[in-house]
Amino acid sequence: MNIQPLAHHGAARPLAGRVALVTGSTSGIGLGIARALAGAGAHIVLNGLGDPAEIEATRADLAADAGVEVAYDGANLIDPAGAVMMVGNALARFGRLDILVNNAGIQFVSPIEDFPAERWDAIIALNLSSAFHAIRTAFGPMKAAGWGRIINVASAHGLVASPFKSAYVAAKHGIVGLTKTVALEGARFGITCNAICPGYVWTPLVEGQIEDTARARGISREAVIETVLLAAQPSKKFATVEELGALAVFLATDAGASITGTALPVDGGWVAQ
Ligand code: NAD
Repeated sequence: MNIQPLAHHGAARPLAGRVALVTGSTSGIGLGIARALAGAGAHIVLNGLGDPAEIEATRADLAADAGVEVAYDGANLIDPAGAVMMVGNALARFGRLDILVNNAGIQFVSPIEDFPAERWDAIIALNLSSAFHAIRTAFGPMKAAGWGRIINVASAHGLVASPFKSAYVAAKHGIVGLTKTVALEGARFGITCNAICPGYVWTPLVEGQIEDTARARGISREAVIETVLLAAQPSKKFATVEELGALAVFLATDAGASITGTALPVDGGWVAQ
């Protein structure tokens, strides 16, 4: 179906009529960003893995709560063809793609000498290459429309490193570089590209890391939270998915038109140190 463009471009629903695709939005930060964009009036394409019945319930709830169209695409983004088809499906369904949020990501924590090569390949494929394939496919239509917003969910680990996260830190630094390049290529076409760099946010991904880090360092779960995770975060608070959603909405509105090529920390002061 073709969605009517920008019917109610007011302050309360500043993204009304826009279409946003958020990768990895069946849980955590991606779902928080999808909720915020939907709340601002954008139609949404959800993506991610998970239980089909739970995903359908999430999709239907979001559509009912926000009063927007919500589609779901189950593309596995480890596969480059998945990203290309997902963007194509969004364009075919809605006739436009205004906002692309590359958020899907996985983590693996291990000393480098034990780091499994297949985990390295999977993390680079999902956390970095899938964004390239999605952007590459969406860019032409955004250029033709003269408007686009690309938001890459990087990490504080896109700006600084921690031990035992070689693949993740490499992928996140990579996506910050990709962000800058895409910003330069989009600058004359009304397309912005920015990276959001969260510190620790309480999501299923972090929950999994607590166990892995405890094993890698030989310490308890509580010690990981206090002395490893929030040790780096001067606020001593997890960032929230709502804060990240609000930032994504801001970047996607007209107020964000001149913000491009940035890597914005949302980390309670972590990378200021
Ligand atoms: P999460 O595990 O809650 O969500 C990850 C999402 O990615 C899920 O929807 C999952 O289904 C999807 N996904 C996983 N493998 C996929 C695949 N092969 N194809 C398509 N989708 C797939 O994680 P999260 O914490 O919400 O993380 C989201 C993003 O935020 C990631 O890029 C992560 O690196 C980044 N991030 C998270 C934190 C944090 O503290 N949680 C901090 C900084 C950056």
